[in-house]
Amino acid sequence: MKFAIIGAGVAGSYLGNMLYSNGHEITMFEAFKKENHWPVCAWGASKHMLEHFSKKAGLDFNQYVHHVGKRLRMELPNDKEEFLELHGLVTYDKKQWETDLLKDINIKYGSVCNRETFPSDKYDYVLDCTGFHRALLPKTKNDFIIPAYEYLVGNIHDIEEFYVIGYKGARGYFWYFPLSNGMGFVGAGDIDKKYYGIKEFFNRYPNAKIIKKIGRPIRLSPPKLMEPFYNNNIIGVGESIGTVFPMLGEGIIPSLLCCEIFLKVIEQSKDSTDKFDKEAYRKNVLEKFHYYHDVYKIIRLKMDGKLNTVRHFNLLVSMYKNMKKEEKRFGFEISFDKMRRLVNAL
Ligand SMILES: Cc1cc2nc3c(=O)[nH]c(=O)nc-3n(C[C@H](O)[C@H](O)[C@H](O)COP(=O)(O)OP(=O)(O)OC[C@H]3O[C@@H](n4cnc5c(N)ncnc54)[C@H](O)[C@@H]3O)c2cc1C
Repeated sequence: MKFAIIGAGVAGSYLGNMLYSNGHEITMFEAFKKENHWPVCAWGASKHMLEHFSKKAGLDFNQYVHHVGKRLRMELPNDKEEFLELHGLVTYDKKQWETDLLKDINIKYGSVCNRETFPSDKYDYVLDCTGFHRALLPKTKNDFIIPAYEYLVGNIHDIEEFYVIGYKGARGYFWYFPLSNGMGFVGAGDIDKKYYGIKEFFNRYPNAKIIKKIGRPIRLSPPKLMEPFYNNNIIGVGESIGTVFPMLGEGIIPSLLCCEIFLKVIEQSKDSTDKFDKEAYRKNVLEKFHYYHDVYKIIRLKMDGKLNTVRHFNLLVSMYKNMKKEEKRFGFEISFDKMRRLVNAL
């Protein structure tokens, strides 16, 4: 089939690679010019899952790993502190990984596509992999995004662990994610745009060297609130249809899981009608990400000061049980006690 893929981020790169190696014709469109293209992200994800996806795409994930986490330190309101044991959370060279996925693909850099003018009829399918922008699918009423930005910094030699500061009311958090050779990402997502922790970080590390400042908002609304997933021959994959895990703003693995669903449906369609079964894709996405809606409700209730751990116990249990089932996919320990302590502390 003839595909246009819009957006060379995680979803677009992985799908481009996999569809091309399955014999499809791919043209990719990316808004940024080649020299400015940069994956805006803190590059942290579970190595178990990235090994799995890399293997499928013919890459050796070990070559991309920057930092293997042992624990994550969390500062919480009222001078509380919590530690999470890490089981596979790493930072990796996301830019190089995506570049290598795309090595055989024809990419039209500097093409800002939009729903009004893109010539969709020239392709069998157009994949909206534009992440937060959702540039080709229709807008939705229930979109919820959180502003975020970060710095790529160098010359930081004395923090060897993942470090976050959780804001009161779960309204966002600050992060430091170590890379290698004294580099790391310092950033924050904050609904109130105060970004506590960033200025304090630079005061504490006056020798930190700023290499890059980057940012864009993150979509927290889950798939259930981001329909439609398709419109005529345009199909959304990844953050464009709300696959980010709302509690953490974590979107790399969920985007890849969404790609996996897309590829499975393509494979099944080949045996039957030779057309992509959009409804099967929709149902599978809703099923896979069903509990993200509960997690989203927890976050919104917490942000509005309305979360009650007794009244909303079922939501908390749903989040815990579903996360526990997928512990490897998160790359850190999932414990109900810690989760409850965190929710109470924020
Ligand atoms: C500051 C920040 C830090 C983050 N840190 C992490 C993290 O550490 N771990 C994690 O798991 N998740 C993180 N996330 C979330 C994660 O990066 C995203 O959810 C994930 O990258 C989404 O993948 P995607 O392929 O759907 O979209 P993206 O990776 O966002 O890719 C979208 C692509 O589409 C292009 N594009 C956009 N509009 C157009 C257009 N009109 N025409 C053509 N091209 C277009 C963009 O330039 C981009 O290349 C972070 C997000 C932010 C903003």
